[in-house]
Formats: sequence, C-alpha cells, structure tokens
Amino acid sequence: MVKKLQNFVNGQYVDVPSETWRNVYNPALGEVTAQVPDTPISELKKTISIAQQAFTSWSKVSPARRARILFRFRDLLEKHHDELGHITASEHGKTFDDAKAEVARGIEITEFACGAPHLLKGEISYNLGTGVDGHNLRQPLGVVAGIAPFNFPAMIPLWMAPIAIVCGNSFILKPSGEVPSLALRLGQLWKDAGLPDGVFNVINGGRDIVTELTENTEISAISFVGSTEVAKIVYTKGAQSGKRIQALGAAKNHAIIMPDADLEFTANNIMGAAFGSAGERCMALPIAVCIGDEVADKLIELLIPKMKALKVGKFDSKDVEMGPLISQKHKERVEEYIRIGLEEDKAALLVDGRNYKVEGFENGFFVGPTLFDHVRPGMITHTEEIFGPVLGIMRAKDFDEALTWINEHEFGNGSVIFTRDGNAARIFTENVKAGMVGVNVPIPAPSALYSFGGWKASLFGDQHIYGPEGIRFFTRLKTVTTRWPAGVPDGENSFIMPTT
Ligand code: NAD
Repeated sequence: MVKKLQNFVNGQYVDVPSETWRNVYNPALGEVTAQVPDTPISELKKTISIAQQAFTSWSKVSPARRARILFRFRDLLEKHHDELGHITASEHGKTFDDAKAEVARGIEITEFACGAPHLLKGEISYNLGTGVDGHNLRQPLGVVAGIAPFNFPAMIPLWMAPIAIVCGNSFILKPSGEVPSLALRLGQLWKDAGLPDGVFNVINGGRDIVTELTENTEISAISFVGSTEVAKIVYTKGAQSGKRIQALGAAKNHAIIMPDADLEFTANNIMGAAFGSAGERCMALPIAVCIGDEVADKLIELLIPKMKALKVGKFDSKDVEMGPLISQKHKERVEEYIRIGLEEDKAALLVDGRNYKVEGFENGFFVGPTLFDHVRPGMITHTEEIFGPVLGIMRAKDFDEALTWINEHEFGNGSVIFTRDGNAARIFTENVKAGMVGVNVPIPAPSALYSFGGWKASLFGDQHIYGPEGIRFFTRLKTVTTRWPAGVPDGENSFIMPTT
C-alpha cells in the first residue's frame, strides 16, 4: 500500500478528502514512493481563513520575538540537515551532497531572516517642517502564498517562508507535486521551533489550487518560482486580483569563454554547472559561447573525456556526481529535444546521452551527459530551456557577437564570463542583459545577503526574491507625518498644500 501524503494545516498533519491522487517517484528506481492529493478548493479556503486568524495575532508579535523563533527553526534545520538532504535527494534524484548543499542555502536564508529586527527598521526625519517629524515603517501584508517548482524541494520554499513569516505574514506553501515531502517535513520543524499554529501551512495540489491562490482576494501576495509559461499566468491573473506578485520563470544561461581563459579551470567549472543536478537548475549553464574556433576545439577536447568519466547513478551511490531526471515524461522530453537538435545539424551531436542505462537502475529516468557543437541562434538547442544534461557549444567570431547572442535571447537569468582580462569582464558585467552575472564563477546565484532574480522572461514583477528585496516584497510601506500641538500657533488654518 503506497503512502498517502497529507497537508499541514494549523500546526498539524491532516488527511485530505481528495478524489484524485498523483504518484510521487524515486526517479533513480522509477518506483512510486507515495501519492500526493489534489486538495479540494473548499479545504484551501478553510486554510486561508485559519491563516487569516493566525495573522491577526502573529503580525502583532514583536520582530525580536519572531526572530527568536527563526533562530530555533534555523537550529532545527541544521540538526536535521542529513535527514532533509535525504528526503530531498530521494524524491528529486540529485546527489546527497548536492541536496545537502541546497538545504545549506536554505539555512543561509533563514540566518538572514533572523536579522528582521534590524531589517524592518524604518527611516526617520526630524523637523521636516517646524515641529513636524516624519518616519516610515514596513508592515506585513497578510496571508501570502509560495508556489514552488520541483527542482529545489528544500531551497526554494526556504527562499520564501522564513522571510515572509519573520515579516509578520502567515504563509501557505504549495509545493511541487513531484517533490512534496520536504515541504511537509518543514511543517513539523516550524511547530517545534515554536511558531504559532496557522502561520505556516502546506497545501498540496496542482493547477486548480494555483488558480485559486492566484485569484482569491484573501491572499495578499504570491511568490512563484517555476516555468515561464505558468509564471506569466500567475503574474497577470494575480495582478488582476490586486495582489503583489513576484514570478520567477525559466532560464537559458550562457557563459562566454574568452581566448585568454584558463581552459582547464573553465572546463571543470562548466562540467559542474552544466551537468550538476542533471542540468535541472535554473542557474545551470547549458550554453558555452567560445570566442573563436581554437577556444571551442580545445574546450571540447577537454570536456569529452570528463563527460565520459562522469559518475551517474542513484543519489547515495558511491562517488555519484549526477542523478536521473525528475520523471519519465521529462526524460522523454529531453530526449526529444536531442532528437530535434540532431535533425537540425547531423554533425553537431558529439556525445549522445539518449538510451542511457545505469547498471542496477535500469528503470531510472536517466539521460546521460550530452554535447552539441556548432549551436547557433534560432536552433532548438539554443532557444529552448531543455532542463537536462545537455550542453551546447557556440562559436562566436568575437566578444561583441557573443554578447549580442546572449542579449537577444528570450531569457536573462544568469550569465558568466571566463577570462583573465579585467576590462573584458567589466564591459561584460555592465552590458549583459541578465539579472545575475558571474566572472569566473559558473553559478552566480547570489548569497543570502543579496537578492535572486533574472531579467526578461526569467522574472515577472518588480522585486527579486529573498535578501533585502525579499523583505520589501513581503512588507508594505507606511509613511507617518507627525506634529504635536504644543508649539503650534493656536487657531491657524491653512488651505494650501503643506510644504517643508
Ligand atoms: P512548473 O511551472 O511546471 O511548476 C511550478 C509550480 O506551478 C508547481 O507547484 C506546479 O504544481 C504549478 N503548476 C504547474 N503547471 C501549472 C499550471 N498549468 N497552472 C497552474 N499551476 C501550475 O515548473 P517545474 O517544472 O516544477 O520547475 C521547473 C521550471 O522552474 C524551469 O523552467 C526552471 O527554470 C524554473 N525555475 C526557475 C527558477 C528561477 O529562479 N528563475 C528557479 C527554479 C526553477
């Protein structure tokens, strides 16, 4: 009998009266491990009311007391680090070390959120006019929701919930149906940290739940991370119902490799960034734009033996470096992209990862590392976010051509340059149209002290996620102007706009 997962509502795990259930897999084995419910909308509405009630008292708790709960939550994440890594890896398929690293990133965000008493401080101006002072404050929004994708089961919910909660909001998390267990486990950890019931809730479901969250006017804001297709819907529909939305979408990140780059260093870094987590990262590096044929030829010569030696397997197999894809459907999709890429240019497929078998895991959703050469703008290997272990080499005649290809691409999440030339790096960082830029850093995902977000079709909304912009996203600004009657001449009326 397969385990039926619950929701986490009002501080407890609750059975869901659902008529439809979807399978959750261990992707390395291709086996069903649990079933996740499609929560009926009536249950979601009840949860929104519970979260609304919880907000009334939680929003009045001082930031210092809220932060103390965050400190305890952070310690619990640390204490259960291995367990959380295990849950993440077994449902997602990424290696255990990689899963632990994403939990560590979530811990870093929680540490940032512990600084709320400082981060929520307002500004003050004394004597704006005679006897008139001004200050501003940031207040919580109400019930807010987080909608997460499959590729970071731990990190992305932790990009959202700690900051939303420490700012005084109550939070409803809708995890991906492919990896729901980690989100559910967080519920107990929040409770153990002392968070009042109803402030953190997990509701499972798919399109219907997302639609209701987006359209329900009791939800004040949505932080969404997922595909561009859904991000656009959440952004437009959510805005129509008066919500604040940040919707992070897809990516196709490029690296420029300059002729002066250290190619051994570059090849090693590209290996991790292109094939780590089987390419299922929004900050993965699926395109290497080489300046000149000589750079491309040398890079390929270095990459191919490394790709052949890559250790692919189950998350806890010895020395494993890359796991399977999330599902059979996604594996078929990635293989279809490779097929079309081959059709577009028969000579270009240098390493073919289709029909890849891992001994002992023959039913797993594996695609092997794949390499295309001579990728050009407009080819499917360039336009589409394949979200698999597929690396494309582009050959640009010079830096300007490479920059044009990057800047004309639909997506602008991350972009990287490998070079020893400080001036080239400076011109690149200033002119590239991407939200996160690396110089000899293959995955420039900002630290918890900064905020994360792309440009173009990689993000819809004004604020990036977590960091200082996260605090702004989950609070609204109020500006107060005060005057105390003492010292104001009696009986003075004025019918003109006040000025300083
Ligand atoms: P997805 O868009 O399929 O799903 C995201 C969420 O939306 C899930 O919770 C899912 O249940 C829900 N959903 C799916 N289809 C829906 C629909 N038609 N209507 C309403 N809700 C729907 O994304 P995914 O496949 O889980 O994740 C991979 C995508 O996420 C990739 O495109 C990747 O680039 C992107 N991503 C982006 C970032 C970023 O920071 N920009 C980070 C991680 C992942």
